[in-house]
Amino acid sequence: MNRILEEKGGRVLAFGAHPDDLEVGAGGLLARLSHLGAEVTLAIVSVPNNPEQRKAEAKAAAAVLDANLWILNEEKPCRVEDIPMHELVRRMDTVIGDVRPDLVITHSANDLHWDHGLVNRATVSALRRTPCDLLAYLSSPEMNAQSRSLGNCFADISAYVDVKLEAIACHKSQLPKLDLESSRDLARAMGRISGYGYAECYEALRVRI
Ligand SMILES: [Zn+2]
Repeated sequence: MNRILEEKGGRVLAFGAHPDDLEVGAGGLLARLSHLGAEVTLAIVSVPNNPEQRKAEAKAAAAVLDANLWILNEEKPCRVEDIPMHELVRRMDTVIGDVRPDLVITHSANDLHWDHGLVNRATVSALRRTPCDLLAYLSSPEMNAQSRSLGNCFADISAYVDVKLEAIACHKSQLPKLDLESSRDLARAMGRISGYGYAECYEALRVRI
């Protein structure tokens, strides 16, 4: 974490179960890290429907965040639970081996979406031999209003909240479900809790200091 935030470099790998999860849950911190000089890679595990449009939207959002984009299961539309766990971990192993991340950001085990929880378990397993920092995020705060924990680690995204909203807005097919103002309001609320203008909340699963 120090290397990424203070020495202005390093490699960041972020996993999202579906296109748009990363932008909603972690778009501000990802924009901040790439702005600071980190090489940021977004890895989307599955595209559940409408693949051409969803992939084009993900590509546009990755460009806004100045990030590389991997789609782990491009072959056909599927849900995460359609992929056998050993196959999911194997594909994550490949991305992790290629990126060699200093920091990984993935879904929280407390996320109430089944696919998101599966991505958390697969990430933890795929990182079994990789020394890196690991943060977990909750995507879709409305869906996770009953979750046990928001997190214990706050990222200042005051200078990046507009970039985050711009990245979310790239997912045009999902905009009826994504309330941009509600994302801004949540970032403001997290900022009030943590003493920043705007913030995102994470669980620190593994931090090297
Ligand atoms: Zn999702």
